[in-house]
Amino acid sequence: MSSPRRLRILLVEDDAIFAAVTAEVMRERALVRWTPTAEAALAAAGEKEWDLIITDIELPGMSGLELVMKIKASQPHVATLILTGHRSFDNAVEAIRVGADDFLTKPVDRATLIEKIDELAALSARRRASSSATILAVGAHPDDIEVGCGGTLLSHIAQNHSVSALVITGGEVGGVPADHAREAARAAELMGVRLFHINVGDANVGELDATTNEIRRVVEELTPDTLYTHSIHDFNQDHRSVHEASVAAAPSVPRVFCYQSASSTVEFQPSRFVAVDEYMDRKLAVVRAYTSNVRQRRYLDADLLRATSRYWSRYGQTRFVEPFEVVRETPAIVSPEWSDDEAEITGPTSSPTSNGVAWDQRAPIESPVND
Ligand SMILES: [Zn+2]
Repeated sequence: MSSPRRLRILLVEDDAIFAAVTAEVMRERALVRWTPTAEAALAAAGEKEWDLIITDIELPGMSGLELVMKIKASQPHVATLILTGHRSFDNAVEAIRVGADDFLTKPVDRATLIEKIDELAALSARRRASSSATILAVGAHPDDIEVGCGGTLLSHIAQNHSVSALVITGGEVGGVPADHAREAARAAELMGVRLFHINVGDANVGELDATTNEIRRVVEELTPDTLYTHSIHDFNQDHRSVHEASVAAAPSVPRVFCYQSASSTVEFQPSRFVAVDEYMDRKLAVVRAYTSNVRQRRYLDADLLRATSRYWSRYGQTRFVEPFEVVRETPAIVSPEWSDDEAEITGPTSSPTSNGVAWDQRAPIESPVND
């Protein structure tokens, strides 16, 4: 009988001694690669399918929190564990807020660390197993989706997820429907998403049964695992109706999130923040597809969209963020099927020591900040 596959862990820690001690603790279970900076870790993160990324919170240059946020945006499956130097409630809250899966306070107890890495590696495996990654975004009007979660959808597309947008009305009120439909189609094309434009008519959005049935039809066709929709905390009645209809139509969708609209109220209280730094410019380019009635649609202003996204970055660590309320986030079904073992991790500049612990010494140990 073959022994279980060893876990692949990326350890980001600027304190070389602590890194060595921590790697030693994990050695029996895992192939550990150590890197002293978040920048190096970000490069390493894309090289392999890691089971777990463990990072110190305080690092030279990019912080551990910022690192976690960037990793979550590009590789949402991999579990992340943040190590904090001192017991601080703020640090713990920050860690969870940026999407870290767990955190530990230094000095780290041996048994606790082992327990955590097993737990978190299993979490990564469950996420991978369930990553059919079909995404559906629902919006009452053309432009709602792009404004609310355009960057996030672009990030899904960059991960090869299948992304669809469902627009409920043509936006007849205050505009020419044909124009709006054309613009919605153009925006969807620019983003690379499949567009369902139902057009129940602005006057009928409030008829919840009709709207719910339309959304349900698309949900049944696509069986998305993530759904984005309006928040209930919105001045706009259509947005609230679409929120209610979406939630009613998608009881089987494991993850349901609500994006912010121009008409969201101050009650909009997001707890999920997606880093969209890389997608902000493209989001704005997509929004520019909406050229009719721009004077009435001042919320399409690029400065405003940028500023809004920048504002929410106070809860994250990156420059631009899209905020989401969480309606539902059901853990995936367990199916921890390990792939075959692989060779020990070595990189071009890594010098593997015994038992698969690889030290990434791109930066000097005692002075990890380059230059
Ligand atoms: Zn709208």
